[in-house]
Amino acid sequence: MNSITQSLNHSMQEELFKRLVSHCKEYGFIYPSSEVYDGLGGVYDYGPMGAELKNNIKEYWWKAMVQLHENIVGLDSAIFMHPKIWKASGHVDAFNDPLIDNKDSKKRYRADQLIEGEIDKLEAKIEKEVEKARKKFDNFDEALFRGTNPRVVDWAQRADAIAKRLANAMKVNDMADLKALIEELEIADPDTGSRNWTEVRQFNLMFSTQMSNIAGEEGKLYLRPETAQGIFVNFLNVQKTTRQKVPFGIAQIGKAFRNEIVARQFIFRMREFEQMEMQYFIRPGSEMDWYQYWKEKRMAWHRAVTPAQKLRFKDHDNLAHYANAAVDVQFEFPFGFKELEGIHSRTDFDLGNHQALSGKKMQYFDPELNEAYVPYVVETSVGVDRMFLAVLSNALVDETVPDAQGEDSTRTVLRMAPALAPVKCAILPLKANNDELVGKAKAIFSQLKFHFKCQYDDTAGIGKLYRRQDAIGTPYCLTIDFETLENDTVTIRERDSMKQERVPVSRVAEIVRERTDMTRLLEMLA
Ligand code: ATP
Repeated sequence: MNSITQSLNHSMQEELFKRLVSHCKEYGFIYPSSEVYDGLGGVYDYGPMGAELKNNIKEYWWKAMVQLHENIVGLDSAIFMHPKIWKASGHVDAFNDPLIDNKDSKKRYRADQLIEGEIDKLEAKIEKEVEKARKKFDNFDEALFRGTNPRVVDWAQRADAIAKRLANAMKVNDMADLKALIEELEIADPDTGSRNWTEVRQFNLMFSTQMSNIAGEEGKLYLRPETAQGIFVNFLNVQKTTRQKVPFGIAQIGKAFRNEIVARQFIFRMREFEQMEMQYFIRPGSEMDWYQYWKEKRMAWHRAVTPAQKLRFKDHDNLAHYANAAVDVQFEFPFGFKELEGIHSRTDFDLGNHQALSGKKMQYFDPELNEAYVPYVVETSVGVDRMFLAVLSNALVDETVPDAQGEDSTRTVLRMAPALAPVKCAILPLKANNDELVGKAKAIFSQLKFHFKCQYDDTAGIGKLYRRQDAIGTPYCLTIDFETLENDTVTIRERDSMKQERVPVSRVAEIVRERTDMTRLLEMLA
């Protein structure tokens, strides 16, 4: 078995990533947007399978947040908001990325990402050296090796020094130092090798548009770059109408837009994407406890669908303008460990600023303390699309399995949590040219479709039909054969083990529901 994200060398990983992208297209998960016009950079459309999987991911998050917590309620706020909101939140002044152009190739890059690439290279060298030594020595002491091997120590120190200088330059907006660092590290355009760079300048990531009835700057609207602000400005509406007491949370799923400078990693970095965010309103001073609490809760949510070794926490070196503590949940994508979710302690930054700019009180009266205060906030923010990519890249497996004649054959299978799978059950007649089998299969489909998402297919031989379902991750396939006509039983085949059992048709709905229902997943979070 060969998981698509196993540690492989760089070019193999690139190949596997390309395969993931083409698998998404071939099986109707994701298409490039506006493909007939050659696509639109950083924008993608979800096909029939993708729409199902995306909805299941959202349902898993929504239920884990809103259904499992009595004190978390949902919201669906508008994408357009008053432009002052983005002034108060800091996005107008500070939601920038450092941009650099290569004068020869005319390609545009994020200066911080070019520098991070150098750190990644040093880290990759270290890992390679550690792996070499592990193979060479019995009773290998990894910590000792990392701490004493002169080359490893030197690379680690260099990586650390670069990371610190980068973090500082970002913090104080020192674009000249980013440029100096790029020059000192002799960073070249990854595509052409040219070192002919422009200066580094800040680029604001918000998309803007114009309201029809207000001319000029006043009518300039932004497409929200995060869903969080819709929650902040509705905080008192929600609190009053639901009578929640601090601590309580507001959860929202919705589109966000960022004019990303570089959007090259498929759905990892898009210009239009979807977020699942939850703001948890708490007493000032309790933020570190809640921060810890939500770190654990969110990691448990990820671990219920993703192997633990592909997940890790990474503290922020460079805190955003609104945070006093921040950590990423990183997933090992085919291109390395990268941010999947952010957990931030945002203090009273947002509510405080909205209070100051709007002139409206953003305070909560705490009946236990008998005092009013602006609550602090801990937020959890995960991208639907990144979660989608994490689920798929973890699931996609090529393996050699015996075929019906016992010969080796290969299959591609999406081993994802059954509750997330786009189709739960496929109904397949053994022979498409037999009216009785087809009639029976269609009758079974008509019963089962009320319980979960089913697919009927009679357009190929049974072996091929199984492979097709494996490739979209369908956990169960029913085969309607001649015995079905005699005794009303079917074989039910499980995706991962490919084991088949014979069960009465009357029990299929219960069996499939029991094994694929979202309830199983949610119970793991208890
Ligand atoms: P990055 O550092 O990768 O740009 P970020 O720290 O700016 O991400 P947040 O502002 O914390 O991201 O957003 C929360 C989550 O939204 C991220 O963890 C990610 O899952 C998702 N997200 C952010 N930007 C994008 C994007 N351009 N495309 C897809 N998902 C995104």
